[in-house]
Amino acid sequence: MKTASRLDRIPPYLFAEIDRRRDEAVARGVDIINMGIGDPDKPTPEIVVEAMHRAIDDPATHNYPPYKGTRAYREAAANWFERRFGVGGWDPDTQVISSIGSKEAIHNTFLAFVDPGDLTLIPDPAYPVYRTATIFAGGEYYTLPLLAENQFLPDLEAIPAAVADRAKLLWLNYPNNPTGGIAPLEFFERVVHFAKKHDILVCHDNAYSEMAYDGYRPPSILQVPGAKDVAIEFLSCSKAYNMTGWRIGFVIGNQTGISGLGQVKTNIDSGAFKAIQQAAIAAFSLSDERLEELMTVYQNRRNIVVEGLRSLGWPIVAPRATLYVWAAIPRSFDSSLAFVSALLDKCGIIVPPGNGYGEHGEGFFRIALTVPDERMREAIHRMEAASIRYDA
Ligand SMILES: *Cc1c(COP(=O)(O)O)cnc(C)c1O
Repeated sequence: MKTASRLDRIPPYLFAEIDRRRDEAVARGVDIINMGIGDPDKPTPEIVVEAMHRAIDDPATHNYPPYKGTRAYREAAANWFERRFGVGGWDPDTQVISSIGSKEAIHNTFLAFVDPGDLTLIPDPAYPVYRTATIFAGGEYYTLPLLAENQFLPDLEAIPAAVADRAKLLWLNYPNNPTGGIAPLEFFERVVHFAKKHDILVCHDNAYSEMAYDGYRPPSILQVPGAKDVAIEFLSCSKAYNMTGWRIGFVIGNQTGISGLGQVKTNIDSGAFKAIQQAAIAAFSLSDERLEELMTVYQNRRNIVVEGLRSLGWPIVAPRATLYVWAAIPRSFDSSLAFVSALLDKCGIIVPPGNGYGEHGEGFFRIALTVPDERMREAIHRMEAASIRYDA
């Protein structure tokens, strides 16, 4: 039996070697500190869990949901968005749609807009779904390098006009996974101008919209005047509200973008469980104070990692957003893979190599702020004890 050739086109799984070494270490009884996964370790806020209990007891939630989300959910999402970003006037019927987590909606947007041979513009390094979804849709991707010297923003001027004219979709993600980079509104203004000029749908993955520190509030691309003409934005309850397992989010913006995605979704899934939509409505009502409390946990961990790495010689700028610290590997290591292998073998620490997110991630590694403070400190102590330091 032969699987479809599209599966052969998926790039090799770069974490396979790391996974193998991890399994060996666990078998040897090593006390592993896993800072590899961007999955919050804290529970979902109580008011969300309580709303779920009430919703699931109501038989009205048990049948098929409307495929684009309940009216109440789409209204709550649009209201949350207006309160958060100061941009309103959304039609919940045509400009907002529920998602079964952003990953689903991201993938299905490619199916809605990419024909075989079509071109997508995707960042590198990046969340791997943009690449694999292009492949599943039969398209081709053109990568936009995210470089430290450009604050991890793509250089739009460097995209050849012929490439820009051929492209159907431009994917962006700020605050950025894996680099922790952030985008000023002025950058989004240039993106909107670029998209209008080349007739491109901009897809902004704003999965970390609420995960910011030191008082920073990440913008929405839809705050740019005229962005509705060319952009859709993907918001998710997963990371901010410790709800990765619930699978709920929404997409908002350009009507053609939303209806294209909706058409794919009606033919593939049957919407998100209505009880989960009610729970998400409760998450949207979380107070700013409660959200800040949730974020303080990560801000403290970020401080521990940044100060710890600095004490070991790393010249590191504290990220103002996301769940990640993105750091260069010491020069004495040949590759990201060699460095993360040493961290695992000598310190029992698991972090992904930067090249797992694309070739421009080579030379970096990513630390996820998803283990408790004392484990983060322990990780720094182990590095110190193993004489793992940054050397320029
Ligand atoms: C985690 C993550 C997602 C997926 O979020 P879900 O809503 O849980 O599917 C999407 N994009 C980026 C960049 C992420 O890091």
